[in-house]
Amino acid sequence: MADQPFLQAKAVSKIYNGKHAAGVRNITIDIKPAIITAIIGESGSGKSTLLRLLYGLLSPQEGRVSFKGEMIWGPEEKLIPGHDQMKMVTQHADDLNLFANVWDNIATLLPNTNLAYKKERSEQLLRQLNMLHMADKKVAMLSGGEKQRVAIARALALKPEVLFLDEPFNQVDTSFREGLQRDIRRIVDETGIAVIMVSHDPAEVLSMADELVVIRNGEIIEHGAPQELYNHPQNFYTAKLLSNCTVLDNQQAKSLGIETELQKVVIYPEWISIVQSFMPKKWIVTHSLFKGPYEELVLTHDDVSIKMFNLEMGKYPLGKGVNIKVSKHLAY
Ligand code: ADP
Ligand code: MG
Repeated sequence: MADQPFLQAKAVSKIYNGKHAAGVRNITIDIKPAIITAIIGESGSGKSTLLRLLYGLLSPQEGRVSFKGEMIWGPEEKLIPGHDQMKMVTQHADDLNLFANVWDNIATLLPNTNLAYKKERSEQLLRQLNMLHMADKKVAMLSGGEKQRVAIARALALKPEVLFLDEPFNQVDTSFREGLQRDIRRIVDETGIAVIMVSHDPAEVLSMADELVVIRNGEIIEHGAPQELYNHPQNFYTAKLLSNCTVLDNQQAKSLGIETELQKVVIYPEWISIVQSFMPKKWIVTHSLFKGPYEELVLTHDDVSIKMFNLEMGKYPLGKGVNIKVSKHLAY
């Protein structure tokens, strides 16, 4: 059936017992193959719970999860939960054999019935994860990022159709993170695997996701292409999550010439620029944070402070007065 949904959750809920009704509520989502779907939300918003429901590590109290038309059974219905075509990697990478080398950690998952294939496939996985040169190293000797690469290679060994990644890059140094992110993108493009990842890092999900899902208090509040959600967030929560923005109330926003009936005004740093003008320079530089390629300036006027990026390093020292222009704002 060509139009059979790939991985689908329909009205799925899982509420944990406890003081607060935490968990996920009434989740309906269609996951597509051959793309990266990223789930972002505050800590405790239900990201891991949702992932575990989709993977079959948790049983939903209501609703159902299906994979290519087949129901996914949770641990209450099935002894070994999950589906053969799905694999999950978390930030702990805890199923590695630390005392074996990288090669054996991967090869051991492949059947001995075809030794030529076993060798060829192990080599291919190591090449895909840029680990070929480390094949003989003991896993215990590897960095967090390298261990994570081995864990991902292991997850991919038997060619699953879905790979779940729960905050997989948390332990990975920033400098290694981008390489791993690129490698995952390449694997998705080359193999058509569906990747579903969870993160609370906006930079990560914005650059990696094809489809971005925003979860708040256990509910999906919006989803779409990262560019769309970043530029036109329907919810204040999404804007706050995805950007390092300034939030003003509508009275404060008046000092920027913004008139609105709505309560909250959101301005991204890149929407503010310093302009030349004969008007009194009422905005004063009150903080300046060196960020390497740019500075983050805080400009203050009366009780209003706003953040902006400045590429002309050192041009606006503390105490300097400037005029500004706001090219765009959002209101909620
Ligand atoms: P996230 O991954 O977004 O940080 P989780 O899905 O881990 O969020 O958790 C969502 C909410 O459910 C949190 O409030 C968390 O404390 C609660 N929770 C998670 N697992 C359990 C559990 N096994 N028992 C009770 N509450 C839980
Ligand atoms: Mg989590």
